[in-house]
Amino acid sequence: EVMRLANKLVDEGLLAHDEYIELLANRDDEVREYLRSVAQEIATTNYGHDIFLRGLIEYSNTCKNDCYYCGIRKSNDNIERYRLTLEDILQCCEIGYQIGLRTFVLQGGEDPYFTDDMICEIIFAIKEEYPDCALTLSIGEKERESYERFYEAGADRFLLRHETADGEHYRRLHPEPLSLENRMRCLEVLREIGFQIGAGFMVGSPGQTYDTMASDFEYLKKLNPHMIGIGPFIHHKDTPFRDEPDGTLELTLFCLSILRIMFPKVLLPATTALGTIDKIGREKGILAGANVIMPSLSPDNARRQYLLYEGKVGVKDKAAEGRKILDEKLAEIGYKTSTTRGDYKGWNRK
Ligand code: SAM
Repeated sequence: EVMRLANKLVDEGLLAHDEYIELLANRDDEVREYLRSVAQEIATTNYGHDIFLRGLIEYSNTCKNDCYYCGIRKSNDNIERYRLTLEDILQCCEIGYQIGLRTFVLQGGEDPYFTDDMICEIIFAIKEEYPDCALTLSIGEKERESYERFYEAGADRFLLRHETADGEHYRRLHPEPLSLENRMRCLEVLREIGFQIGAGFMVGSPGQTYDTMASDFEYLKKLNPHMIGIGPFIHHKDTPFRDEPDGTLELTLFCLSILRIMFPKVLLPATTALGTIDKIGREKGILAGANVIMPSLSPDNARRQYLLYEGKVGVKDKAAEGRKILDEKLAEIGYKTSTTRGDYKGWNRK
């Protein structure tokens, strides 16, 4: 019966709500390996054995939000807050550019210190210096007008994980005033403006069930984003979820395969969190259908302070070494890094 559902997923690219639940609840080794091999084949049919790289610049760990899972939440008094300057950020880009990266991702806490003017100035500066590079923002929820300004300034993509598509579950993960409704509204607005958009969720976050995950798959099918970011939840000792169990490698890989089958062309990263819970988690992610890796370009001291969860990997890597190591690791599984921008196929700036 579970194989029938797996075949239906492969044939039709989606399932009904209860069928997702059944597939998740009854997955076994056979179905895992079947979906993994189909997903890998779909990825290589669309993207070959090329893995796109995104240089992650974690420009601030200051945040006005208080998400219960996150290590840089407002209420965590146990971290030193930092902000990168425009010069720091450009320095990160330069290091990234030198090693062949052609996409930069500006990510940070939701830090009101950075006004829209400042964000636009950063976008302009990066785009002026590196016109052949794509720029992705991952800077949280804003008003439409702000998003419009960022797009006009030259930003190309926006990552905003929806975190969970189930309202009650969303409330368990985020205190007010955050709301699922606003999160989803932001994603709609970002798409309308013309960004390549990325949604996604944590696997194994406290309160997640197969039912909420079925809602995630359904929501993603409706949204049809260009990028999907998923990774295991990993506890952080200075958060209310310090004693909660981490998400598993196995379920994350299973979800990656489902998503690749549902979205043959989506840009799907093997995330840092996946590489944190397993030494070769990112390689396993690629073999399960992922096609993007996001090495950190943040300066050493910033990396040590941008700890969303325990044991985060890459904190000690140097960017240049990181690329070489990455290439070696990927060669072992028959893949290589690509030095192109890696846009969603068919996307053009409005
Ligand atoms: N503030 C921006 C936002 O909300 O989109 C960007 C930064 S936020 C730290 C980036 C992502 O980190 C979140 O979407 C969340 O899924 C992930 N994250 C935060 N805490 C985590 C944890 N403890 N384990 C795994 N992922 C986590």
